[in-house]
Amino acid sequence: NRRIVMARRPAGIPAPEDFRLDTQAVPGPADGQVLLRTLYLSLDPYMRGRMSDAASYAKPLEVGDVMLGGTVCRVAESRHPDFAAGDLVLAASGWQDYALSSGKGLTRLPPDLAHPSWSLGVLGMPGFTAYVGLMQIGTPKAGETVAVAAATGAVGSVVGQLARLHGCRVVGIAGGPDKCDHAVRELGFDACVDHRAANLAQRLAAASPNGIDVYFESVGGAVFDAVLPLLNRHARIPLCGLISQYNAVPGVEAPDRLPMLMRLALTKSLRIQGFIVSDWYGPLYREFSRQMSDWIADGRIKYREDVVEGLENAPAAFMGLLQGHNFGKLVVRVAS
Ligand code: NDP
Repeated sequence: NRRIVMARRPAGIPAPEDFRLDTQAVPGPADGQVLLRTLYLSLDPYMRGRMSDAASYAKPLEVGDVMLGGTVCRVAESRHPDFAAGDLVLAASGWQDYALSSGKGLTRLPPDLAHPSWSLGVLGMPGFTAYVGLMQIGTPKAGETVAVAAATGAVGSVVGQLARLHGCRVVGIAGGPDKCDHAVRELGFDACVDHRAANLAQRLAAASPNGIDVYFESVGGAVFDAVLPLLNRHARIPLCGLISQYNAVPGVEAPDRLPMLMRLALTKSLRIQGFIVSDWYGPLYREFSRQMSDWIADGRIKYREDVVEGLENAPAAFMGLLQGHNFGKLVVRVAS
């Protein structure tokens, strides 16, 4: 059983030395347990937060722990009454070939799923994050302008397409011309600006002639600086993530944006609401699953995956995710 553990807490951008691949015997299930074989592993930005011991909404990993993560698994062996060998399940078994489970937290997937890995993306946590953040917090109305950061990623690509479905003008912000091209041509956004090129603020303003009514924030930093002056009165900001800051080193001076932000929040009656998707599961998730399956089936929502082959390549792929090297939802194919 190959497992990737956190070998060291990263300082700044994670380095290869922060991960270690070790090998152990494949464990056998006890009574009431199943043995899971990982087929796909999801790589997500929140994992960087768990590698840090700063106070957050979830407990950090300890050095030596297996890296955590959502997975699609096949039941390899079952001594549990509710599962049989061969069942396909959604699990959270982390960066390893095999894992034992008591069955708690496993979700059975249909055996004939065309794209099992999509349960880790558009039909799973990231898709639901987009749905909750945009619809419950952003509350977009037809004719409004919605701007979305990390626009071609797992969450952002769904946010923009959902906003289009609701009759909004959609402006994406993404890293590089290929991603911007994809956002407009494939995902149907009205415009997309490259945050890595010069004069971001001017280009974003030109792409948003009526200002911005909803800004779906996943990035922070320089992208937020460009968005702020364009926000309309009563704009809503679903605060989903701040990926440009996940590798920040504590104690390093950053520009103090707080006075300007507070002044604009007051004078423009802004509504900024952070959210953690795990707080929102329940009836809303069933509504999301049903609707999203329909939208995908009839081609109204498009989905792009970035599939990396082999568990051993997970650390490099994860380090790349935090620097924009992925193009679409990042998953690792661990076994077929
Ligand atoms: P993505 O698939 O969007 O991948 C991350 C992307 O972030 C990169 O491809 C890159 O896109 C962009 N990025 C990375 N570093 C920087 C940087 N320094 N400056 C600007 N952009 C950067 O990931 P997800 O869709 O999975 O996640 C998107 C965001 O949503 C993250 O902030 C994540 O933490 C958050 N999230 C929050 C949840 C919640 O419950 N609140 C749940 C799930 C996700 P590009 O090349 O276009 O810049």
